[in-house]
This record gives sequence, structure tokens and C-alpha cells, in this order.
Amino acid sequence: MTAKTGICLILKTAFLVAVLANVFYGQAIDAEIKVGADGNLIEVAANFPDAGDIRNLTFEREFAGVTGLADRISGIRTVGKDGREIDLKMFAPGEFVAAEPIKAFSYAVRVDPPAESGQAHISWLKDGRGVIYLADLLPLALGSGSPAATVRIAGAKDVAGGGDCSSIGVETFQCSDRGRAAFPISAGFRTLKTKTPGLLLTVEGTWGFDYAAAAAEADKVFAEYKAIFGGVPKGRFDISIMRFAGDVPPGKYEADTRGTSIVILSSDTPFKSQSLQRLSSLLRHEMFHLWLPNGVALSGKYDWFYEGAAIYMANRLGVAMNRTRFDDLVGSLSTAVAFDRTAKKGLSLAGASDGRWDGGGTTLYARGMLAAFILDLELLKRSKIKLSLDDVLRKLFTTHDRRNASKVEATPAIIEAFAGFESTDKLAAELLERAEPLDLTPFLENSGFELSDGGRGLKAKEKPSSREKAILNKLGYNNWRKLSLR
Ligand SMILES: [Zn+2]
Repeated sequence: MTAKTGICLILKTAFLVAVLANVFYGQAIDAEIKVGADGNLIEVAANFPDAGDIRNLTFEREFAGVTGLADRISGIRTVGKDGREIDLKMFAPGEFVAAEPIKAFSYAVRVDPPAESGQAHISWLKDGRGVIYLADLLPLALGSGSPAATVRIAGAKDVAGGGDCSSIGVETFQCSDRGRAAFPISAGFRTLKTKTPGLLLTVEGTWGFDYAAAAAEADKVFAEYKAIFGGVPKGRFDISIMRFAGDVPPGKYEADTRGTSIVILSSDTPFKSQSLQRLSSLLRHEMFHLWLPNGVALSGKYDWFYEGAAIYMANRLGVAMNRTRFDDLVGSLSTAVAFDRTAKKGLSLAGASDGRWDGGGTTLYARGMLAAFILDLELLKRSKIKLSLDDVLRKLFTTHDRRNASKVEATPAIIEAFAGFESTDKLAAELLERAEPLDLTPFLENSGFELSDGGRGLKAKEKPSSREKAILNKLGYNNWRKLSLR
């Protein structure tokens, strides 16, 4: 940054702070979101129904590694309380300040699908299909302003999602938090009710898996997590499964769990027989997020915990549900060990959480999964298999359930949750801060596992003791043996 831009930023900050002091209330939005016939343009016409003294419009600039989001906005116009058009200044992409309070505003957003990754994470449309996330289409709620939005989505062929919002009319939704609203769009949707109350499954087109089998799998995974977490998060839930914007080779997928909506974009698997297996694996990961982080009132960045735990639990649940084998779990852990050994020097799990979309992603996933595994093993060992990571997850969800808990900082809350179980809090804190690859050796002692391949992998011991066998069995070793005997 040059000295000149430095000064410019300081002045801008001073100006924004002065203006922001007035805008911490009344930021609920009523909006009409018009999906253009040509597919890649969305027109937004909105107003602030509560008529506060709002002079700032700030839009999301970057999400999940996709940059330039605010550059997609054009033709922004603002109108004051008397209906007169008012002047608006842009201080940076996505940051607008008006000279007078804003009553209504309009703009267009060019929503081409991102060419690389990110189609599951930001709004895009192509040939009348795509995904709308209110988080990157509507202005952000600033400070303690209301994040609510009432939206009418016009011109779309078929709108799915919106689980976190109430449907109040034809394609009209009332959302208490616009940051949690996702609306997949496609004329090819077919929606199925599942046996789980409030859970809908929407599928675009035909796939290698059978629709009824997919719905049954969603029910099963939901029930498993309900038992682990000791309850169900607030709301209605929806899962939308659709194709990417363009042709993508088999085996590619992306998913986002926003509020209570899961959006899965995928190509089908090369073989029909793998299709349900792959869907199950995605559901086991994404549905975990309905509880953590989306079902709890925890703030701050804590991907280090919920991503690692989601990957680990999705793998562990796969074995428990007999969808995968015990050696698949061991194989995934081995891959994580190998990846973690190549992590950037000096990078901790806490640091990787900050740089998740900026090169820290691999460390976050690999070390996060290993941390969850180590904590699970330690709990099993110290408690003589009476306790496991499940108990900590249940404690976290029941204590911080967003329907009745007030928001607290996540990391101290997570460490505290571990404190209640075999004093594993110190270990959790240590795993979070350690700035070098994790050495599993001390944790594998008496666990039934040992390092293999010169420390680059993991395996179950050939001859575990009876106590070690009990731990291995708890993680599904027996299921695997039963399966392999078939
Ligand atoms: Zn995840």
C-alpha cells in the first residue's frame, strides 16, 4: 500500500465511522429480486420499511475465495423519504454513502457463474437456472442493524430452498436473517418429502441414485446426527441437489450449508453404483453443519473445529452406517497425516482458520480432522470408552442452541465444553495453537492404532489388546470385519 492510499483509507474510515453511528437500527429490507430472461442479470428494487436514518449501503465483496462480488453491481440509484433521487458516493467497490437518509434503492447485479470453484457459494444464474444467496445480493446489515429481509423472487422458473425463511406468498419469503437464505432455481426441480418432519429434498434432473433411496439416506443421516447432538436445530430444512452451470467432468462436487438450506452442486459419478454412495458422503458432511455451526449461537471464526469435526464425523458415521469400511476411515486419516506433514511451517490450526480460502484450506481440513480424531481417541481412552467426541458435540449444541442461547465467542466455548469431559480442554487448546504438524505418537499409545509407512500413515494394530480392541470397535472396526466376511 502506498502512503497516499494509506491516508485515503484513514480519511474514509473516519467518514464512515461518523456516518455509521446513525445506522445501527432499522436495516430490515423489502426487496423484489427480478431474474432476467437472459439469465445472467438480476434487478433488485428495495426499500427500508422501518425508515431509519440509513445512509450506507455495503455489499459483500468476497466470499469463499470468490473475489470481486461487489464489482458485479451496477446502476445503483437511491431515493430519499420524499421520493426524490439522492446523491450517492462510492468509496470502494460495494461501499456507498448517501448524503441523506435512504428510503429506497435499486441496482442490477451481473450474476455470471464463477468459472473456477465457488458455484455452490455465491449467487449465479445461467440459462434460467442457478442459485440466489441473499448474502451477496442485498446490502449487509451493519452493526446491530436488523438482518431481516422480505423478498419476492420474480421471473424465476422454480424456486427451492428458503428453509430458514417463511413462505408468505407466491415466491415471497420472509427471512429473519438474509445471511442465512439460499434459493436454488431451476425448471427441472422435483421436490420430495422425506420422513423427517420439515425436511425437503429437491433434485434437479436424473441421477445414478434413486430418488426414494436419496430421501431415505437423508432421513437416516439426519436421525444419526439428531442422536449424536441430542436434538434437532430450529427450523425447516431443505437439501437441493443440482448440476453445475456448465459441463463438468464426473466426480466433481461443491456444497454449501446456509442457514437450514443445503445446496449441493455435482456432476454424477462415473459409475451409477457410486452415485448414492457419493451423495451419502456429501450428506454426512453437510448435514453436520445444520447443527454446527448453523444451529448454534457461537461467534467468531471457528472453522478449525466445525470443519475438522464435520470431516471426521462424516467418515466415522460412514463406517457406523455401513456405507464405508473401517479401512476407508483409516485411509482418510492417513491422507490427513500425509497432508499435515507438508503444512506451511509456523501455521497453526487457528492460523489456518483465518486463511481458509487463502492457501490455509488444506491444513485446516487435514489437521482439523486429525485434531477431532485425537480428541475422540483421548476421550475414549481416558473414559474407558464411556465418553467420546459425541458427548462434547452434544454439550455444545444443547448449551448453545441458537433458539434459546445468546451469542458467545466460539473458541472459548468449545474449549470449555471439552473441560467438562476428562479435562480434554488443555489438549484441545494445544491442538489449536500448535504451529507445526501434529505428532500422533503419544496419542496412539494404547489406542489400537499405530503409525505406518514411516510415520506417513496410520493403521490398526495387528494384535490389539482387549482394551484397544474395544476402542477400535467403538470406531467401527467390527462393522468392517463383518462387511469383509460377506
Ligand atoms: Zn464443511
